[in-house]
Amino acid sequence: MIAREVARRVAEVRDRIARAAIRAGRDPASVRLIAVTKGVELEAMSAAAEAGVAEFGENRVQEALAKMARAGSTAGRWTWHLIGRLQTNKVRAAVGRFAVIHSVDNLRLGKAIDAAASAAGIVQRVLVQVNLGDEPQKGGVAASGLRSLLADLLRCPHARVDGLMTIPPAASDPEQARPHFRELRRLGGEMARAVPGVTLADYSMGMSGDFEAAVEEGATMVRVGSAIFGPRERAAVRAAG
Ligand SMILES: *Cc1c(COP(=O)(O)O)cnc(C)c1O
Repeated sequence: MIAREVARRVAEVRDRIARAAIRAGRDPASVRLIAVTKGVELEAMSAAAEAGVAEFGENRVQEALAKMARAGSTAGRWTWHLIGRLQTNKVRAAVGRFAVIHSVDNLRLGKAIDAAASAAGIVQRVLVQVNLGDEPQKGGVAASGLRSLLADLLRCPHARVDGLMTIPPAASDPEQARPHFRELRRLGGEMARAVPGVTLADYSMGMSGDFEAAVEEGATMVRVGSAIFGPRERAAVRAAG
């Protein structure tokens, strides 16, 4: 896709985010746009960056690290998010390279991140992914296991939980996703009361088909890919899990 088209789409997505925020009585600046770039070439990412995007989301550690290497010094000006599933054997490669890891859903992974971040002398910010649709093929802790996972992660000081993330069941109508977004916010409030010491400020929810509903329901990060970069190749969609 040509740079001008990417810029036009970025502006349109930003405008839709701002309108949704205002409808909900929220400050548009309280919503961060993460442009999802799995399968997207560096050239298109640069076009998005020139249009004002500063945060990018990648699904796979390897693809992201390769892009960081190719982007060179430019990569340091961008904020990178890992939004896909993270395998324990990739933790050391990922820690410190991503500002936020959105997909922590078990204690073993949390401990591995904690150990790698501790060894690197940093604190890795993470989100806990919640599987609200109870879909076995998707990552995420079940809502019923969230409380104990958050309590356990408090003992991992180098993996700091900033909030919650969810990917609702695929649906053609954003109104079908809305109850899940609302539920994630509600769970966050409940957890903040139930687990002393936990602060859940961030809610990563909403994709191309439903980010306005997510913003209306309190998203602080929306992960938008195809609405900016166009439809993905099938291989990239499969890789998205
Ligand atoms: C691919 C992906 C997105 C973006 O999806 P679009 O529908 O293209 O906006 C968001 N979040 C995750 C976790 C993804 O894998």
